[in-house]
Amino acid sequence: MLTNAPRGTKDILPDRVGDWIYLEERIRDICARYGYLELRTPIFEHTELFRRGIGEGTDVVDKEMYTFLDKGGRSITLRPENTAAAVRAYLQNKLYADSSLVKLFYIGSMFRHDRPQAGRMREFHQFGVEALGEMSPAVDAEVILLAVDFLKSLGLQELKLSLNSVGCPKCRPLYRKALQDFFRDKLEHLCKDCKDRFERNPLRILDCKADADQDFMQEAPKVADSLCDDCRAHFEGVQSCLKSVGVEYELDARLVRGLDYYTKTAFEIKYAPLGAQSAVAGGGRYDGLVEEIGGSETPAVGFAVGMERVLLALEKQGLLPERKASAEVFVIALGEEAKLPAFRLLEELRRAGLVAAMDYAGRSMKAQMKQANKSAARFAVILGEDEIKESVVMLKDMEKGEQQKIAIDDLIKTCIAGVKG
Ligand SMILES: [Zn+2]
Ligand SMILES: [Zn+2]
Repeated sequence: MLTNAPRGTKDILPDRVGDWIYLEERIRDICARYGYLELRTPIFEHTELFRRGIGEGTDVVDKEMYTFLDKGGRSITLRPENTAAAVRAYLQNKLYADSSLVKLFYIGSMFRHDRPQAGRMREFHQFGVEALGEMSPAVDAEVILLAVDFLKSLGLQELKLSLNSVGCPKCRPLYRKALQDFFRDKLEHLCKDCKDRFERNPLRILDCKADADQDFMQEAPKVADSLCDDCRAHFEGVQSCLKSVGVEYELDARLVRGLDYYTKTAFEIKYAPLGAQSAVAGGGRYDGLVEEIGGSETPAVGFAVGMERVLLALEKQGLLPERKASAEVFVIALGEEAKLPAFRLLEELRRAGLVAAMDYAGRSMKAQMKQANKSAARFAVILGEDEIKESVVMLKDMEKGEQQKIAIDDLIKTCIAGVKG
């Protein structure tokens, strides 16, 4: 018990941390290029924020949140996603005062009490962006391109971008009604969840996994046919932008997001080789969310990327950069008297900017040489009684196999030249 992390969580061990840093660097790189600034919000928020910001009736809010009362009796929830918190931070800190379009990104842990499976953890990591304050379809396109460019910059090739428009509060009631008319005589064939959704949220019947293969699903009315003029023009605008830069996409009428504050653009990016877990990024426009959380009417669009899945894809394709943590200089002390001078030398090397290591256990010359080899150090510096008397060290170039006596004063210069040059 004490030596097991909670189910659905995972240590990221030193040999994998490099992968995460690599991914985070790529994220910061691409976000800088697109002008998105990093936002870090708290790990937990008031439960009410997520109830409003994600929506009652969703699996996340109804079944998956880590919610508890704190010592002050307030209901607190570990963030299951970051969009609601980003909007909260945007409002609380009046970020809208600085600019009409505010572009943010985040990287961090999210928490959902879900069934753990490959690529899906209870503590998982997301990278996402939110662009707040602008209606233009160019912003939707920018956000989509950022996601595509990011995944491509990692070397992922077989990406599939799906696109849809889910309408707006003006045209969606028509679509809801069209769906209800269509499904009414098919209710008995739908799963139990969908029977509930029929009244509450018929759009979500379309993305039900249990009913995905039903014959009649293909004939369900398409949202595109119910869009109002405004939504139609916006959707065409997004597609024009994507076409103008040669990004391929396909229209997917079943790509829906059921909540009222999701508006217009919805998109998803899949990476086919991942199979059942192939969705790596998803997002869209949410023009109604800022108002839902207590701000004034503010258009917004964003996406989130599951970092575990992206890492899984990179690992599968051998796209993770090779990393080795190696010392540059390994200090070997021979005999009791050499220990302190060697320790001082070690510190001097480090202060000079070199990656230096040393064995503290006082092993034999042979054992320490072996360690120096294992550390992949470029140089071994050997310090024994004789060397101390002469104020020199024995410097062994591990790459060339040469060794020479060298004055301590010259040692650092030689090492730096060898390592950095
Ligand atoms: Zn509309
Ligand atoms: Zn269903």
